Amino acid sequence: GRKFFVGGNWKCNGTSEEVKKIVSTLNAGQVPSGDVVEVVVSPPFVFIPYVKSELRSEFHVAAQNCWVKKGGAFTGEISAEMLANLGIPWVIIGHSERRALFNESNEFVGDKVAYALSQGLKVIACVGETLEQREAGTTMQVVAAQTKAIADKISSWDNVVLAYEPVWAIGTGKVATPQQAQEVHAELRKWLQTNTKAEVAASTRIIYGGSVNGSNCKELAGLQDLDGFLVGGASLKPEFMDIIKAAE
Ligand code: 13P
Repeated sequence: GRKFFVGGNWKCNGTSEEVKKIVSTLNAGQVPSGDVVEVVVSPPFVFIPYVKSELRSEFHVAAQNCWVKKGGAFTGEISAEMLANLGIPWVIIGHSERRALFNESNEFVGDKVAYALSQGLKVIACVGETLEQREAGTTMQVVAAQTKAIADKISSWDNVVLAYEPVWAIGTGKVATPQQAQEVHAELRKWLQTNTKAEVAASTRIIYGGSVNGSNCKELAGLQDLDGFLVGGASLKPEFMDIIKAAE
């Protein structure tokens, strides 16, 4: 079984007061019992130590990015070994905002994933097509190329969660339909089956991100090849607890 995974990507949001509020809402919330869901929240770097120390231990913490190789003279960057040193278990890599706004190429994302894994971090690796690419009918080529660039650089998928986040669904309120999501998730699993190993395809969690909220999560959660969510906007609100409950 693939344990349901719910990630909350806070992006570049929050004051210390707001972060305190979110943490107390999460701490007061009910997580489904029976070890059915893994929940990870991803605050901006500066809030990670606070969130890590204040949040209930059943929630885990992820960074939103890290540097591509060993630290050094790279002003403004945070290295994977620093995250590991602070006991931060997860990192999000290859988010479409980083790809689009910071020019992160498929190859660079693959290198980052490999380096983060080498430092003992677990990785939420993101892939997804733009609206233009979907309309041109190239969705699967795009996500396959993004996934291949990662697969080419790593030897094990044990510590990787693959996040399918169609760019047109991110922050737009236009969630993928269950059919659209299931189609790509199934294709990604097939890609893993063909290009890695059957066990990798069977065990790797493929999660969906893009305008997930408390009302659309339940239907998506029931899809065969959808193993969780990566939530942006709604992860800053109490409704994040409802999305976690979709695991039940
Ligand atoms: P929204 O849930 O705000 O659409 O963002 C999704 C996302 O980018 C999560 O990484």
